[in-house]
Amino acid sequence: MSNFEYLLSSINAINGVGKKTTSLLNKKKIFTIFDLLWHLPLAKIETSEDTEIENLQVGKIYNIKVVPIKYNFPRIKNLPNKVICQKNNDKLECIFFNSYEGYIRKILPLNKEVLIKGKAGHFRNKFQFINPTLVNSDNSKFINKDYKYSLTEGLTLNKYNQIINNVLKNLPDLDEWLPVEISKIFDNVSWKESIIKIHNNDINLVRSSKYFKRLAFDEIFANFLLSSKIRSKIKKIKKKNKIFDLNYQNEILKNLKFKLTDDQILALDKINNDMKSKQKMFRLLQGDVGSGKTIVSIIAALNAVKAGYQVAIMAPTEILAAQHCNYIEENFKNYCNVDLLTSKTEYRNRKKILNNLSNNRINILVGTHSLFQNKLSYNNLGLIIIDEQHKFGVVQRKKLSDKGGDNCDVLVMSATPIPRTMMMTIYGDMDISLIKTKPKSRKAIKTYSKNESKIKEVIQFINKEISNKNQIFWVCPLINDSKKIDHQSAVKKYQTLNKIFKEKVDIIHGEMSKNQKDLVLKKFSEKKTDILVSTTVIEVGIDFPNANVIVIENANKYGLTQLHQLRGRVGRGEKEATCILIFKSNLSKNARKRIKILKNNNDGFKIAEEDLKIRGYGDILGFKQSGIKKYNLADPMQHKDLFYLAESQIKKIENNNFNFESYNKLIKLYDKVSIINESI
Ligand code: ADP
Ligand code: MG
Repeated sequence: MSNFEYLLSSINAINGVGKKTTSLLNKKKIFTIFDLLWHLPLAKIETSEDTEIENLQVGKIYNIKVVPIKYNFPRIKNLPNKVICQKNNDKLECIFFNSYEGYIRKILPLNKEVLIKGKAGHFRNKFQFINPTLVNSDNSKFINKDYKYSLTEGLTLNKYNQIINNVLKNLPDLDEWLPVEISKIFDNVSWKESIIKIHNNDINLVRSSKYFKRLAFDEIFANFLLSSKIRSKIKKIKKKNKIFDLNYQNEILKNLKFKLTDDQILALDKINNDMKSKQKMFRLLQGDVGSGKTIVSIIAALNAVKAGYQVAIMAPTEILAAQHCNYIEENFKNYCNVDLLTSKTEYRNRKKILNNLSNNRINILVGTHSLFQNKLSYNNLGLIIIDEQHKFGVVQRKKLSDKGGDNCDVLVMSATPIPRTMMMTIYGDMDISLIKTKPKSRKAIKTYSKNESKIKEVIQFINKEISNKNQIFWVCPLINDSKKIDHQSAVKKYQTLNKIFKEKVDIIHGEMSKNQKDLVLKKFSEKKTDILVSTTVIEVGIDFPNANVIVIENANKYGLTQLHQLRGRVGRGEKEATCILIFKSNLSKNARKRIKILKNNNDGFKIAEEDLKIRGYGDILGFKQSGIKKYNLADPMQHKDLFYLAESQIKKIENNNFNFESYNKLIKLYDKVSIINESI
C-alpha cells in the first residue's frame, strides 16, 4: 500500500477498529485515517503515578503496579468479569465489561506484577478500576499519550487513545511538498512531525505553534491549488471573441435615469474585455446589496446580444427572475427580445419559448434553475449570468460553465460580503470584480430594535410613513403559524395588519402561485398597496426603490449577514430608510451584541467579519450547504497571513504557466477533503 493509500483508506483498516467502532467514528464524520488526524485532543488527561491502594483518590487516573491473584469469570450473561489484584496487603478489583477471558488472562497474568492504568473507583467498600489497560513496558513515546477528545457515546477515551496512538505510530513519512522558501517559514517542520506534535498537546496550546500553522497552510495551499487548476483549465478554453462597439453601450447608458458609478464602469470594462477576448470569461461580480450589480450585468448582456449572441440570466427565485425580466422588458425593449422561463411556466407557453429560443427570436432568457435543467436548445448562447448565486459550490459552477459550451462566457454575481480570505477560498476559480462603493445618493439605513411588546409604537410609526407615501416590507420567519415554533407567521401577521390598515396590506410567500405573486408585486410596485407582508423570499435581490421601511419579526432568528441582506431591500431610492428589528424580551448577551453591530454598520463587509467572529465561517449564509468543505485547521479570520502567503505562492505558479507537477501529491491528498470530490 502506498503512503497515500494508507492515509486515505477507511478507518476499519486500523488494527482493533471493527464494525462497531467504525460506525461510531462515522458519526463524528471520521471515515478515513486522514480524517482521524484532524480530530484533535481537547486536553491532556492527568495521570498520577504509582501509589498505595489506600491512597487512591476516586475519579483520578493512575498508573499503578499490582499483582493479579484471582480471576472471577461468572458464566452468567451481563455479569462483568473480575480480577482481584493485590498491592502490598491491599486489594484492588479490576472489573471488565465486554472483555473476553482470553484477553484478560493475557494482560493480567496471575501472580506476576503488572503496570496497569485506570480510573480509581470505590464500590461496596472496595477500590476498583473499570476496564483498566495494561501499560506496556516497551512503551514507544506515543503509547503514554492520553488525551481527552470529544467523542460519541459508546466510544471510550481509552479505546480512542489506542486507535489514534496506533495511527500516529504508523504515520508514513511523506516527501516534502512545500517549496523550500515556504518550508523555511515554518522552521522546516515536516508534515508528519507536525501531526504528531498537534496530537500531543492541548488544542489551545498548540494552535499558535509552527506545527499547527504548517498544517493549516497545507490545507489552504491545497485548496488554492485546486481552484487554480480549475482556472487554468477554463483559461485554456478558446472561444470566438465577441465583437461589439462601445458607442452602442454609450447610447444605452445615456438614456439611463442615473449615471454609473466608477466601480460599475470599471467592472463593466473588465467584463467587456473578457467578452471581446478569445478566452472564456469566468468572472465574479461582487458587491454589497444595493451596489447596482444588475444594471452592469444587463448592459453586458445587451453587448453580447449586439454581438449576435443569446444570453441566459439565472436568478435564485421566481420572484427575482420575473423582476429582472420585467425590468429588461420595460427599459430595454428596443435593444432585445426578452422572455421568462421558470418551472411554473405553462406547457404551451414553454413550448413557444423553446421554439423561439432555437430560432433565435429570444435574445435574453431569464429564469431559475430550469434554464439549465431542461433540455433547452439555444441557437447561439454566448453569455450566462447567474445572479445572487452564493449558494453554489465550485462543482456546480464548473458544470454550469461547461453546459454553455466553449463559446459561452460566464458572469456570476454575489452580494454575500465576505472577507477576502473567504473569497479566495470560495471563488478561487474565478476572476473577481468588486463594486466597493454604492451610488452616492444612498443614505445609511437607520436601524432600531424593538421589543415585541412595543408593537403599538411600530404601528404608529408605520402609519406616519404611509401618510408620507412610503412603502413597507414586513418580514416574518414562517408562512403559517406553527405549533412547534413560537415565531410570527406571515399569514397571521397579514390578518392582524389587515384589521388595522385594511386593503393597504398585501402578502407574498413561496407557497403562492406565480400568477398570484405577480399580481401582488405588480400592485406593490404600482403603489396600490403600502405594506407587503412576506417571508424571507424577499431576501434575495428584490428591488423596490420606493419601499423604505422594513420590519423584521423574530430578528434574533437570523444571522447578521442575513439581516443585512434583508435590510438591503430598503434604502435603494433617494429617501432615508428605516429598519426595525423586532425581538422577544430577554435577549441574550450575544444577541444584543449583534444588534449593536448591525445598528452601527452599513457596510456588508464589516458586518460579515463580525459575523464570522461570532458564528464561525462555516455557518455564514448557507455556505455549509454549498458543498464547500470547512477547513479542518485553517481559519479565514485567524490565519489571514497564511491565506495571503498561499495566494502569493499560487500567483508564482500561475506565472510559471500553471505548473502543478510538484504539487500533485498535496492536491491528491487534500483534494478528497477539501472542496471537491470530482476529479478535474
Ligand atoms: P444589487 O447590487 O443589490 O443587485 P441592484 O442592481 O438591484 O443592486 O441596484 C439597486 C438599485 O440601485 C436599483 O434600483 C438600481 O436601479 C439602482 N442603481 C443602480 N446603479 C445606480 C447608480 N449608479 N446610481 C443610482 N442608482 C443606481
Ligand atoms: Mg441584485
